[in-house]
Amino acid sequence: MDIFSHPDFDQHELLAFRDDPATGLRAIIAVHNSNLGPATGGCRMYPYANNEDALRDVLRLSRGMTYKSALAGIALGGGKSVIIGNPQQSKTRELMLAMGEFIESQNGNYISAEDSGTSVSDMAIIAERTAHVSGLSDDPEHGGDPSPTTAYGVYKGIVAAVDFQLGSDLQGVRVALQGIGSVGYYLAQYLREAGALVFAADVNRRNIDRAVNDLGVVELALDKVLNADVDVLAPCAMGGAINEHTIDHVKASVIAGAANNQLATVAMGDALLEKGILYAPDYVINAGGIIDVFYQQKGNRSAQMVKEHVDRIGDTLTSIFQRSKEETSATSNIADVMAEEVFKKPVNKTNRDTKAA
Ligand code: NAD
Repeated sequence: MDIFSHPDFDQHELLAFRDDPATGLRAIIAVHNSNLGPATGGCRMYPYANNEDALRDVLRLSRGMTYKSALAGIALGGGKSVIIGNPQQSKTRELMLAMGEFIESQNGNYISAEDSGTSVSDMAIIAERTAHVSGLSDDPEHGGDPSPTTAYGVYKGIVAAVDFQLGSDLQGVRVALQGIGSVGYYLAQYLREAGALVFAADVNRRNIDRAVNDLGVVELALDKVLNADVDVLAPCAMGGAINEHTIDHVKASVIAGAANNQLATVAMGDALLEKGILYAPDYVINAGGIIDVFYQQKGNRSAQMVKEHVDRIGDTLTSIFQRSKEETSATSNIADVMAEEVFKKPVNKTNRDTKAA
């Protein structure tokens, strides 16, 4: 295969492969861009149907991390790694140690963290072989799990979007969450505290029951959540929630949630603009987790520092909304342009500032 003409290849700086029969590790590390700092992003373990799917995922996800960190104002580049395999069946301590060695062999050009299919305890095993890993369980506050910080950022983003679109605070505003797992649960907590009415659907019975019982969330049927009669739709499950089949049924006037890759295609961004639905670009609103990882990596993390930084997500979104209105261009396009204005600026890598921007 010609990698340079791969549809998801975007001048990535580095692609590394590891096939280790001794442990069964098959993994890819991708660094998209390191202009702003070392490429950082989670290590995903997933039973990809084939190697091509894994390559596609790592190329897309690493690129997404470049854009996310650039607009989050942190001195990190974009990277990601994928392990091909079923985390329920094939994850062993030996495999994770081998992954740690693979990460170590990149000499700090890639910094890892947890992602789908990997956990804080997996990162601790990886850390036995490399220092280039974040999201460890020695964090006193939440054990390295970035979900609460991600949820706080999404909450601040919803506040900004509702203010922009409806000119109100969250009191009495109706929000529907598709997925109420790690991020969704904390998000629902913030929303309830702010006086919002929260609805949710989840394929996992335990997660929905927990939200109903603990937080007074109202359960929705799985097929009713995307077209619920609410003010805000918050996709917090998997990617692709907004696609050609769902978009015409959305009744919310704001879409703002935690999930990555919420728009199935670029065209969805333009379609939402046309429909007058305000979309908070996913990688902007869900950047709380990478901001948390950044401070953990710097080694001088304080809850206050992280909170103050994550608070700025609301301001970043408001400037995207404003510019989208002025230029009549989709918020997703504007976010891309603004991110490129940051990470494509020529930088002197030797004098690079590793402090938050
Ligand atoms: P999670 O797995 O804890 O929660 C996802 C929830 O969605 C689960 O409860 C699952 O049962 C539910 N779900 C799956 N498919 C569904 C469907 N079709 N309909 C309804 N519910 C469904 O994951 P999470 O950590 O809460 O992350 C949620 C999303 O946010 C993911 O897309 C993730 O990539 C993204 N994200 C998470 C973080 C983080 O810090 N955890 C950071 C950035 C982005």
